[in-house]
Amino acid sequence: MEKESYQELEQRIAAYEIRVKDLEVVNEELSDFIENAALPLHWVNGEGIITWANQAELSALGYLKEEYIGQPISKFHADQDIIADILSRLTKYETLHNYRARLVCKDGTIKHVLISSNVLEKEGKFIHTRCFTRDITPLVLEEQRKNDFVSMVSHELKTPLTSILSYVQVMLSRTSKTSDAFISQALSRTEKQAKSMTRMINDFLNMSRLEQAKVQLDIAPFDLNELLHEVAEEIELTNHTHHIQYAHAGEISISADRAKLSQVLDNLINNAIKYSPEHSTITVGFEQVGTDVKIYVRDQGIGISEADQKRLFERFYRVESKATKHATGFGIGLYLVAEILRYHHSKIEVVSSPGEGSTFFFLMPIE
Ligand code: ADP
Repeated sequence: MEKESYQELEQRIAAYEIRVKDLEVVNEELSDFIENAALPLHWVNGEGIITWANQAELSALGYLKEEYIGQPISKFHADQDIIADILSRLTKYETLHNYRARLVCKDGTIKHVLISSNVLEKEGKFIHTRCFTRDITPLVLEEQRKNDFVSMVSHELKTPLTSILSYVQVMLSRTSKTSDAFISQALSRTEKQAKSMTRMINDFLNMSRLEQAKVQLDIAPFDLNELLHEVAEEIELTNHTHHIQYAHAGEISISADRAKLSQVLDNLINNAIKYSPEHSTITVGFEQVGTDVKIYVRDQGIGISEADQKRLFERFYRVESKATKHATGFGIGLYLVAEILRYHHSKIEVVSSPGEGSTFFFLMPIE
């Protein structure tokens, strides 16, 4: 092999130097870019200490570099359980996407943010996490204003409606003794409509409570069979169109919030009535599945396509079709059902196909 001349070696070293210089320039440009990027960024080490933050992050929260960098990240979080969860996930090398959190600004105000974060590791060693925060405060405040409004309107509507309903019920009990069939039929219909309106208003109230995280569960053991009968009997008072039948596996006790579970069943049975033809049968029941009980409401109604099943439990989602055109509602019943069950660590599920009826069910552990 020919020996490299001194001149050639010199040329090669010069070329390397140029490349190193290029890399330094690129590195500097990148550092400058992230330092001045509009997106707030910060790095946190394995001990939960902020090791770096860019200008956008500092000015969003109002801190000076020396007040922020070097401090524990938990100091700037309004909810200690949230930051504890974030840090524990990150130390397990999890990647976070749009994790909702609340940060405390220097002037004491709270910012609602979405945090996305991943871990930089080298040879299996935790170096730091890189966190991007997105400010969603205006959206959250707007949502809160909307919730307050819905909750206020619902409250105001509930009082006169309760009074109308009780007068109708008194009139109904008096007219049933008279022979005027028209009046008693008209009053029955008025009672049914007033009850349906009360249900919608209660759904709105419950939705705004849920969204403001004001829901507290009152968990206690109770007999499932009793609850099922209670809910269905209440519905039977105004249901003269559908046949409700019970199918149950004897006495089963579960631990849950009885009033909220009653709301879940009430919503499911009323939907079964609303979306199935008159004189069809609705089956309300439960059966044991291992150590759980499966609670279900089955109808012989219009059914639901697979595409709609995927979106059914979203807030305000309603199926647009000829068959559902005349049914009134706001698309919050099933959202509430799903949320209440989520609070109970359970999940609403549906088995259905168009024209063949639907079965809504969920599992709860047996007491
Ligand atoms: P709403 O009944 O007020 O529209 P829900 O959240 O209770 O709202 O239900 C969402 C949608 O799911 C309804 O609009 C309806 O199209 C569909 N749905 C709910 N229950 C049934 C059912 N038992 N059979 C067929 N479709 C149903």
